[in-house]
Amino acid sequence: MPHEGSDVLNLPALKINVDNNARFRYLDGYWFRLIDVSICCAPAEADTQFTVFDSSAWKKQLLIFKEYILLPSNADVVVVGGGVIGASIAYHLARRKISVVLIEKGDLASGSSGACGGTIFLQTKSPGTHLELALESSRRFVHLEQELGFGFEYQRHGGMIVIESEEELRTLEQFVEKQKNIGLDVSLLDQKQARELEPSLSETILGASFSPLDAQVNPMFLTFAFIKAARDLGAKTLAHTRVTGFCKASHRIKSVTTDKGEIQTRVVVNAGGVYAAKIGALLDLEIPIKPRRGQLVVSEAIGPTISRCMLSAQYIAAKFNADLAQKGGGVSIEPTASGNFILGSTREFVGFDKSVTLEGIFHIAKHASRIIPCLKKLNFIRVFAGLRPYTPDGLPILGTVAGLDGFVMAAGHEGDGIALAPITGEIIADLIVDNRAGFPLEEYNLARFYPK
Ligand SMILES: Cc1cc2nc3c(=O)[nH]c(=O)nc-3n(C[C@H](O)[C@H](O)[C@H](O)COP(=O)(O)OP(=O)(O)OC[C@H]3O[C@@H](n4cnc5c(N)ncnc54)[C@H](O)[C@@H]3O)c2cc1C
Repeated sequence: MPHEGSDVLNLPALKINVDNNARFRYLDGYWFRLIDVSICCAPAEADTQFTVFDSSAWKKQLLIFKEYILLPSNADVVVVGGGVIGASIAYHLARRKISVVLIEKGDLASGSSGACGGTIFLQTKSPGTHLELALESSRRFVHLEQELGFGFEYQRHGGMIVIESEEELRTLEQFVEKQKNIGLDVSLLDQKQARELEPSLSETILGASFSPLDAQVNPMFLTFAFIKAARDLGAKTLAHTRVTGFCKASHRIKSVTTDKGEIQTRVVVNAGGVYAAKIGALLDLEIPIKPRRGQLVVSEAIGPTISRCMLSAQYIAAKFNADLAQKGGGVSIEPTASGNFILGSTREFVGFDKSVTLEGIFHIAKHASRIIPCLKKLNFIRVFAGLRPYTPDGLPILGTVAGLDGFVMAAGHEGDGIALAPITGEIIADLIVDNRAGFPLEEYNLARFYPK
């Protein structure tokens, strides 16, 4: 499936002769079934063949590859969901020498992980286990590109929360104090100090909180980096394969049914993001995760304007306050490695609708250029929307499920899934392999929504 206008580069000789019309091919004594045609940053040395094209949007070479693999008949663990969470879990399991199959109904990273921002903010988290989880994840990010052998545009220039009203200032003063008390490196800047750090900030702002620990990544590349590393370690990833059911005996998972066949397994991880509730429903589980839409705007690329990610104070407040979210919900401003800005994003409950609205885009553009006035001059090149996997308390659902042996939850990260992906993968792999997570998971268990 060469991409229109693509450049076919001089890559190693094809190992399998691709015939687009063949559903099955006989090769080296095996019948291979065409399972996967997806976009991915595949490693050049992988056992696949590629067509390469230059993606102006991401300014990187993405690789379209066609992969011939057999649906495995069994695996130690089946991960449902090829987003950043499933990919991280697959990698961490493979690293621990567990045979793992990741199943994705669409393209890899085609869900929330392919339609989101890439900020890794620590100062937005309330002191407690959520901040501890984020801190653990942030420590892993520092060496993750090297560990995975794949760049995902990790940049740690710190982050700012921009204050625009006296009320926000009072709230932030208290919040920052609490965070400082537990040792987080965060400080409150007045307008002059904030503008010294970021001269493009408007003179109308009152100040900002700043933490040098905040960072950012390219979320799709992060997902692909986990996928590549997992595959290098022997994990199988099946895109365009849908999980349609599960078999259990008594209270234990026995197998996973897909539209391509069945896989025997004793452990399933539900990393289905906003679809986690639908996956749970196949086992009569009630999982309170629902989609919360976020619209995003991508600007044209320009030279250096601001060097770190910014959130308006309203953006944080809107996460926990539905009224504020309804009124617009603040804004996030993310300068990317390629010089484009990603501006976001609304917080709306509109089911699985991923369309964008004029109202949403207008709000984002207006608020972003109020904070950074020179953004007014920029053209937008793309708008899109993604769905955050929302839970009622803003925390993900992680861990085992009472009464159903072999079913593990790893979903509901709302607006933090990119930031929490490394630690989530590690925790879930430890839980499966060692029977304990190395991090207290009580607060994250599904059971918290169903007190006895
Ligand atoms: C606008 C917006 C901005 C955001 N900004 C940030 C940010 O700056 N920082 C941050 O940390 N987070 C951010 N997030 C949140 C982040 O995107 C999510 O938390 C994260 O991507 C969730 O990853 P996931 O793997 O759980 O879900 P997904 O990426 O959605 O992966 C789940 C996958 O499961 C697959 N699936 C579902 N059902 C089945 C089935 N039956 N069979 C097979 N496969 C199935 C889906 O196709 C999907 O690909 C943002 C989100 C949005 C929408």
